Amino acid sequence: MVTDPLPTDATPLDPIPARTPTPSRGFPCPSCGAAMAYDPARSALACAACGHARVLPPPTSDEQAQALREQDYLEALRRLAAREPSLDLRVVDCRSCGAQLQLEGHVVGSRCAFCASPLLLDQAHTERVLKPQALLPFALDPGAAQKVFAQWVGSRWFAPNALKQTVSRADGIRGVYVPWWTYDAQTATTYRGERGESRTEEDNQGRIRRTVDWSFVSGAVAVPFDDILVVGSPSVPEHLARVLDGWDLRRLRPPAPELLAGFTVEVYRHGLEQGFTQARERMEPAITAAIRRDIGGSDQRILERQTVVDDIRFKHVLLPVWIGSYRFGAKAYQVVVNGQSGEVEGDRPYSAVKIALAVLLVAVLLALAWLLGNRPGG
Ligand SMILES: [Zn+2]
Ligand SMILES: [Zn+2]
Repeated sequence: MVTDPLPTDATPLDPIPARTPTPSRGFPCPSCGAAMAYDPARSALACAACGHARVLPPPTSDEQAQALREQDYLEALRRLAAREPSLDLRVVDCRSCGAQLQLEGHVVGSRCAFCASPLLLDQAHTERVLKPQALLPFALDPGAAQKVFAQWVGSRWFAPNALKQTVSRADGIRGVYVPWWTYDAQTATTYRGERGESRTEEDNQGRIRRTVDWSFVSGAVAVPFDDILVVGSPSVPEHLARVLDGWDLRRLRPPAPELLAGFTVEVYRHGLEQGFTQARERMEPAITAAIRRDIGGSDQRILERQTVVDDIRFKHVLLPVWIGSYRFGAKAYQVVVNGQSGEVEGDRPYSAVKIALAVLLVAVLLALAWLLGNRPGG
């Protein structure tokens, strides 16, 4: 067994306040006064101090319809441009990573949920933003998320042993509702191009050659898009965002304050228009494929195309993410757990000692194999 001494530059994790660092303004426990938080396992508002719990009623069909309703894109841009006061929201910025966190309606911890830097809550300010219409409640409670986190770390090759102690602490992981946009749109594309029909023929040396006969074509395709998901913030690093696909959006609910209790809510930094630009880019491959199908033949050339995008609709939703951040040595690392599915992805340090020992072991084995292979008379 390889034992790995604690590297001299390894520092233990900062004591990061957990999910209920400040007394709840929203939901004090009726029996003991402690802060209550949403408990995914029981769909209840629960008190960790005394065990008191209030089960939340399921949303009414009206509320559910409201959560799933697509909003008109151009109308929302107009409201933003008109700076309607109904869009005002109190937010606090993280000075260190730039995350923008919602201060209203629930409690924000005294540290940033993404980078664990202290938040200056007295420097909150007002932003005019579109408010989320729905959220996916957390399905994984803190204990389950912590387990996923610890298992992930435990299964990393070449991780320093001290890392496992670092993340086994119960306060290493924080629940954040991250802002997302979903877009629907109708597209109509006219194109000009060429259809190729390939045939094979034998040349005078008996070789089979493939030739393509091209003919001019033009036409139009209509491609509808539904629920293209675009993340509204750069807070989750792109290389970790792989686990943040594949949401079951049928479970969207109105963002009741009870569901937010105990979690951080991030406010978008990539706005409605910026999000749509990304969504629009993602439509291109599907439109190209539709044109190719429409052209038919064995080969296709698209010479010219023009797309009109119409009836753009969107939803602004919050999706549940557990973020673990830890410091190891001088460096900060992040781990992301999908709060609905439990999928996990993260950054991790490598143990130089373990890697060196493994390299040494391989070198010894290679040397042995070489010696055995070159035995005189062998
Ligand atoms: Zn209580
Ligand atoms: Zn931060």
